[in-house]
Amino acid sequence: MIQLSVTGTAALAGQAFAQAPALAESDPQAVALGYKADSTKVDKAKFPKHEAAQKCNNCALYQAKATDAMGGCPLFAGKQVAGPGWCSAWVKKA
Ligand code: SF4
Repeated sequence: MIQLSVTGTAALAGQAFAQAPALAESDPQAVALGYKADSTKVDKAKFPKHEAAQKCNNCALYQAKATDAMGGCPLFAGKQVAGPGWCSAWVKKA
C-alpha cells in the first residue's frame, strides 16, 4: 500500500477577519518591515524609496477594498493593517 505523506503546510488565511486586531507599529514583524499606520509618517532617511502616495490600500497585498479603513495583509497574519498605512514590502497594485 502506498502511503502518501502530506506535509502539513499551515494554510495562511489570506482573508481579513472583521474582528482581527489592528497591527501595532511596535509588533516585531511590523518594526522589521518599517510598518507605519500612516504612510506620511514613514522615516524618509530609512526608506528613501518610499513615497507618501504608497499606501496599504493601493498595495497588491492588501486584502480589502481600497476604500476600507483596514484590511488583512498576508505578511501580518491575524492582524489588520491600516488602509493609509505602509511597509517596506509595498508592491504597486496592478
Ligand atoms: S505589504 Fe502592502 S498591505 Fe501589507 S503592510 Fe505592507 S504596504 Fe501594507
